[in-house]
Amino acid sequence: MAQIYWTYNELLEEVHRRAQSVEVLGHTVDGSPIVAARGGGSKLPAVFITAGSHSTEQAGVSAAVSCIEELETEHQVYVIPTRDPVGMQGFAHVLSLGLGERPEADDFDQVESLLRDQGEVLFEEDDLLLSLIGEYGYASARPAPERACAQYFFYQRLQRLAKEHPDALEPLRGRRVWMTPGQTGVAGTGDLGRAYTLIISLDGEILHINRFHDTPWSPIEPRATRDLMARIDPGISFDLHESQLMEDRYFLSARRQPDATNEEWEQKAASAVIQAISDSGATLARDEDVSALGNWFDTSEPGVCWLDAGRRGEGYNLADFASQTYGLAFGTEMGMYGTFDGRVNLAMITVRTAVEVFSQRHA
Ligand SMILES: [Zn+2]
Repeated sequence: MAQIYWTYNELLEEVHRRAQSVEVLGHTVDGSPIVAARGGGSKLPAVFITAGSHSTEQAGVSAAVSCIEELETEHQVYVIPTRDPVGMQGFAHVLSLGLGERPEADDFDQVESLLRDQGEVLFEEDDLLLSLIGEYGYASARPAPERACAQYFFYQRLQRLAKEHPDALEPLRGRRVWMTPGQTGVAGTGDLGRAYTLIISLDGEILHINRFHDTPWSPIEPRATRDLMARIDPGISFDLHESQLMEDRYFLSARRQPDATNEEWEQKAASAVIQAISDSGATLARDEDVSALGNWFDTSEPGVCWLDAGRRGEGYNLADFASQTYGLAFGTEMGMYGTFDGRVNLAMITVRTAVEVFSQRHA
């Protein structure tokens, strides 16, 4: 059984148990250390594995923790198991940062009372309650069938709000805004078990933690990741994500490489991964699953989708940046309505298989 980490302390204890060494890369807004753990052997180039920039996608986080010890390779392995230690600790935890003490926040009624009574309500409509408490923004959005993906709903809703009611977002410039996940039925997340983090820049741009990889200003989480990558110069990087939009189906998110040799190995690794995923009995994503995420993917074969950051806009995410700067880079997208164990397993198969191909290249 794959472990689900509900607190950062539990996760850190497990990381320390499994790692050869653990280093602190920085501290985020609740004081939590952002850590990198060492596994693997001593060979270069290094393998880099990370997850959890979207705190609602916890199977990737559990898989990353497992990889510290269970990924068998001669190459050096560096793992940042979660890039959002604050959001992973849930909605009551993030509320404690604005309130100064941890409240009871076990259901939407309690959360919304707190947002109304303890905060300054900035916007309220049927689908969204947005409030400022202390230094932070909080949004409550109850689960609803038309919000098939809670985090896209939040992202797009705030972007629409910025256009239609810019005044509502003015007080949130330069701040973090946390949303209730409302992911009923998703093991490891649920309605309030995590908090989805957005950051609104001083210019009013609304972004999440898997951005800011190519910008002069960046929050501490991507800055810590960028610093580590600059130091270890990874030959292959993995960012383990999940999607709420495709039941239990899976796709691999690959990246075009700046040179022909890397491109060839990216393709080889991608084909091997998708073969291994199919062999495991998992179902691959359909074209409509991928197009529901955006029009910035090209599919080379079923289950292998190449993300074009230029078409998407919003700058580089971690895998975009890694592919342009360091080498091979992959993201996973596991369907979040699979079992937690199954989702973790798909992430592990991805990393193991791609690292095997990577090892052949550097044999
Ligand atoms: Zn994600």
